[in-house]
Amino acid sequence: ADSFDDECDYLFKAVLIGDSAVGKSNLLSRFSRDEFRLDSKPTIGVEFAYRNIKVGDKLIKAQIWDTAGQERFRAITSSYYRGALGALLVYDITRRATFENLKKWLRELRDFGKPDMVIVLVGNKSDLGHSREVDEEEGKTLAETEGLCFMETSALENLNVEEAFLHMITKIHEVTS
Ligand code: GDP
Ligand code: MG
Repeated sequence: ADSFDDECDYLFKAVLIGDSAVGKSNLLSRFSRDEFRLDSKPTIGVEFAYRNIKVGDKLIKAQIWDTAGQERFRAITSSYYRGALGALLVYDITRRATFENLKKWLRELRDFGKPDMVIVLVGNKSDLGHSREVDEEEGKTLAETEGLCFMETSALENLNVEEAFLHMITKIHEVTS
């Protein structure tokens, strides 16, 4: 470990899940490096990024795993979820099918994730209001039914991205301390 690791109080692992092209990789690059790509390629293999966050007087190192094409490579599922304390479950507000598929993702989370995992439901691409196919109310309602936190975000316009990740990380801190 480098000296910075030694100064960290906690290391949290969290995962990004949801259908292909909902914006998971761009949410992560926005959060970890403040970058966005219009032409982003599907992620192949496992990728993760770190960011250090101060919560109260504790320094938390958040290690966020990107689904890395897990939509296709089912075999990595159990290692992907192993040890994860939180998840951002992402859909695209302009594609109804990505919202309908949330049931499938929630089942997978319950099969492979820890029971007390902190899950934040994220409706991404809120900048594309004119082609919206899922009302904000529907996201809210689903989140309430399933006991999740909920937020609409735009990785493109950098709206609520920081909030979504920080909400998850703060909650994890509450649950684990
Ligand atoms: P992933 O497959 O879930 O990782 O999705 P990507 O992050 O690769 O994004 C898929 C596509 O959606 C790319 O063309 C992105 O530029 C675009 N995208 C991602 N987030 C947003 C957003 O908030 N708004 C808009 N308009 N496009 C986005
Ligand atoms: Mg990706």
